[in-house]
Amino acid sequence: MTDLYRLLPEEMEQLVIGMGYPRYRADQILLPLYYKFPKDINDIPQLPKKLRADLTEAGYTIGSAKETHRVVSEDGETTKLLLNLNDNNAVETVLMQYPSSKIGGHPRSTICVSTQIGCAMGCVFCATGQMGFKTNLAAEHIVSQVIHFAEILEKRGEHVTNLVFMGMGEPMANYDEMIRAIRILTHDRGFGLGQRHITISTIGIVSGIDKLAEENLQIGLAISLHSPNNTLRRELVPTAGPNSVEDIIAAGRHYFKKTGRRVTFEYALMEGINDSPEIAQELSRLLKGNGSHVNLIPINPTAGDFRRPSKTRVLKFEQILSNAGINCTIRVEKGTEISAACGQLRTDIVG
Ligand code: SAH
Ligand code: SF4
Repeated sequence: MTDLYRLLPEEMEQLVIGMGYPRYRADQILLPLYYKFPKDINDIPQLPKKLRADLTEAGYTIGSAKETHRVVSEDGETTKLLLNLNDNNAVETVLMQYPSSKIGGHPRSTICVSTQIGCAMGCVFCATGQMGFKTNLAAEHIVSQVIHFAEILEKRGEHVTNLVFMGMGEPMANYDEMIRAIRILTHDRGFGLGQRHITISTIGIVSGIDKLAEENLQIGLAISLHSPNNTLRRELVPTAGPNSVEDIIAAGRHYFKKTGRRVTFEYALMEGINDSPEIAQELSRLLKGNGSHVNLIPINPTAGDFRRPSKTRVLKFEQILSNAGINCTIRVEKGTEISAACGQLRTDIVG
């Protein structure tokens, strides 16, 4: 079985041509796939019956991920979906809306996409890391997360405006499927989202960052740093292995040079662990003059005993960075009450 959401537009053309149909039939599949959200090949009535039968016979299907659970936050701005995949694995995906930053009358609607079920990186403060690695998601299952929300939004006259690869898993550890999904989602004849509206967040796998820099894509990059030195970082990210803080920063600089896209360093603040003024100063020295942007994330509650620092401490940390001329923001928290916030996604305790 092959889900049609797996195919790049060029592959769709090859498929129909290979079956003896004219090239334009590919667009008759692609257009409804990305704008009408059919659930079955027979939901595309403009396709000749014979082509629908040929596709079905050759093992093609549509939409192998099915929504099994939906939770909406009290303010209605965060929605979490649990999608069941055909192999009985489940994945979580989250929509965050920001009505205050309207784009052409519509709220900003950002989808937080997962690339793996679980994660092998084992970050001690992250719920996904604590469930361990289960499996890589296929490109069609990454695309499906976006399609499910696109359909929900379309019914409200809204649309997907941004994607962040900050859900479950480490995108660079599932590189090929992630890139395939991005190519489909940004293709003019696919979902057609602007490359600049996508951000990939990585724990700092240098080989992946270097590879991404060569893709000729205008994707934003966020690197999860969490510590200005290697000793503390290895405690927080036990698998950091050969990727030192210095190597990661150099990779970020190279990425910026190659793509012109500014790199953001994410820093999850944990009380008594990496939130002291001394550490803020160490971080300032490390990033000074780099043109980097730092996004501070006061940690969200997970099963571990890490706590979020007080507001005063967070502001103090921010101030030290700002005083050193480092562009710094504090992440606005969304979806914590429905366990949809950063680092809270796990599927071994839901549904
Ligand atoms: N694996 C990638 C992307 C998914 S995690 C990465 O680590 O970057 C997305 C973001 O959530 C990362 O910046 C990560 O550090 C952050 N995060 C993980 N656990 C968190 C928690 N408990 N509270 C707040 N942020 C968390
Ligand atoms: Fe994996 Fe990112 Fe969680 Fe670390 S923070 S365990 S890399 S998902």
